[in-house]
Amino acid sequence: MFGRAPKKSDNTRYYEILGVPKDASQDDLKKAYRKAAIKNHPDKGGDPEKFKELAQAYEVLSDPEKREIYDQYGEDALKEGMGGGGGMHDPFDIFQSFFGGGSPFGGGGSSRGRRQRKGEDVVHPLKVSLDELYNGTSKKLSLSRNVLCSKCNGKGSKSGASSRCAGCQGSGYKVQIRQLGPGMIQQMQHPCNECKGTGETINDKDRCPQCKGEKVVQEKKVLEVVVEKGMQNGQKITFPGEADEAPDTVTGDIIFVLQQKEHPKFKRKGDDLFYEHTLTLTESLCGFQFVLTHLDNRQLLIKSNPGEVVKPDSFKAINDEGMPMYQRPFMKGKLYIHFSVEFPDSLNPEQCKALEAVLPPKPTSQYTDMELDECEETMPYDVNIEEELRRRQQQHQEAYDEDEDMPGGAQRVQCAQQ
Ligand SMILES: [Zn+2]
Ligand SMILES: [Zn+2]
Repeated sequence: MFGRAPKKSDNTRYYEILGVPKDASQDDLKKAYRKAAIKNHPDKGGDPEKFKELAQAYEVLSDPEKREIYDQYGEDALKEGMGGGGGMHDPFDIFQSFFGGGSPFGGGGSSRGRRQRKGEDVVHPLKVSLDELYNGTSKKLSLSRNVLCSKCNGKGSKSGASSRCAGCQGSGYKVQIRQLGPGMIQQMQHPCNECKGTGETINDKDRCPQCKGEKVVQEKKVLEVVVEKGMQNGQKITFPGEADEAPDTVTGDIIFVLQQKEHPKFKRKGDDLFYEHTLTLTESLCGFQFVLTHLDNRQLLIKSNPGEVVKPDSFKAINDEGMPMYQRPFMKGKLYIHFSVEFPDSLNPEQCKALEAVLPPKPTSQYTDMELDECEETMPYDVNIEEELRRRQQQHQEAYDEDEDMPGGAQRVQCAQQ
């Protein structure tokens, strides 16, 4: 180098922050951190930045593996290994785990620094029929969930004490280090297997007999889910704070998501209902009446007006017989009835004659017999037009695919010749 000393990698700052020498023992580190962290805790009016630095320094130096990396390569190596410094833990969590859950400030201490995790919400689908959404219902559902052990108040121990996990120094994580090459290391974090990521262990003899040190016990609970009239498919019914309990965690919610089952007769569109009904040809021409059983089992009489002809694929509507509106159940949408007409497949000559006698006359032919004789005979046959169109589209696609291959291939030959 040209007279300039290479920048010394910083591997003393953490020692300076804690005010200990580079060969400080774990005990010295603990003492130094304890004293400084209490003094600088933001709850006691300390400087939050200083508090954070202390936690960072302590987190690294109290972990023999991290300390070794720090001593050799400095702060940057740790940050790189942890993915841009994102791996640092919350300074309050470090403080918390150091003091094992109890407040170092003595009885009743503030809880501002104690950050609670948010527990996960539990989402359950809940199948309901259209009848149930129309009429409203309530369902009792039995669920088992974790609750904090009542005997130890979720501490897991008889005495309420726990000690910092030796396997992870209370961080809840273990760091695996791999040397990838000179000066290159990779760190991987995974939850500590000895304490299951909690950062603390409980003495075997001190374990709570009810929860065996697990802090939580399983409880069966019956929830009554009230499905109100007019609720929608996909609507959520929430039970706040009824999910699994865990120590130092804000309990999540249990959320039921309504899933409406298909109804064989009725379809719902918003607040309206659609009902399918098929008429015979005679009914469509000469009048009909039928009884429609509604979703609340009321019997509605539906009939045509005298002399009315109901055409295939036509609709009729009845006001206020649709779905009740959510939270305004006295208001209802419309009920639409969709009519299909079943035609006879064939008629015999007598039937045709009888019908011709009453139906409007056929159009008279504009052509003479001679003119018709000169026409070409054709043989139309029945087709399912949807299938026909689908097949046509398929053939078209295949032809297109082939076409696409062709020009490229031809071009390649051309290029080779040039
Ligand atoms: Zn551990
Ligand atoms: Zn217990």
